[in-house]
Amino acid sequence: MDAHLLDAARAAEGFMPDDEGLALHAAGVEAAAVGPLLEIGTYCGKSAIYLGAAARTGGTVVFTVDHHRGSEENQAGWEHHDTRLVDPRTGRMDTLPFFRRTIEAAGLEDVVVAVVADSPTLARYWATPLGLCFIDGGHAYDVARADYEAWSPFVAPGGLLVFHDVFEDPEAGGQAPFLVWQGAVDSGRFTPVSATGSLRVLRRV
Ligand code: SAH
Ligand code: MG
Repeated sequence: MDAHLLDAARAAEGFMPDDEGLALHAAGVEAAAVGPLLEIGTYCGKSAIYLGAAARTGGTVVFTVDHHRGSEENQAGWEHHDTRLVDPRTGRMDTLPFFRRTIEAAGLEDVVVAVVADSPTLARYWATPLGLCFIDGGHAYDVARADYEAWSPFVAPGGLLVFHDVFEDPEAGGQAPFLVWQGAVDSGRFTPVSATGSLRVLRRV
């Protein structure tokens, strides 16, 4: 991955360890040959840099979807809350300004296309086949499952479906992404390609 973009990704606020980010980037480079990339769960744009770098290399774009109001686990009183991301005017979370600065500083505005939306609502109006779909939105079971059901049909044959925060061991983290990932494997529509930390790459049969 381009050294300047890797520095920008490492410096960005978010939840993407370096080895997993590089695995995501590699999946994106490969999948760009199949179609555009799409991410559920932008937050402040950290993973969007890894995918944006891949999109640029592959001559495509990455759509990154978020309502920018935070997941349950990002709200005040929860484990992943960051008070800097609260809009003082309303008291609600707003990660959109942070995302914009991240992508501007990385120089990726031409390949990272932000969509401010509730993920299943957008999916209802979506039609474009995808080279890669990265699911990293809300981690409650119903939310993660809804993202999988809404978006996995858009992954083109030969394209990749990627999950984040898949923890087989309940001691290591919440089980929802693991259960949804397992459902994808059991469906017979996707076959496992690689695992890096909590990142799981599957290929559409
Ligand atoms: N990929 C990011 C982390 C994403 S955190 C990184 O690299 O750091 C999860 C994000 O999912 C939050 O920003 C939250 O606002 C978003 N999210 C949760 N539920 C959503 C929904 N239904 N629609 C759109 N975005 C959602
Ligand atoms: Mg994550």
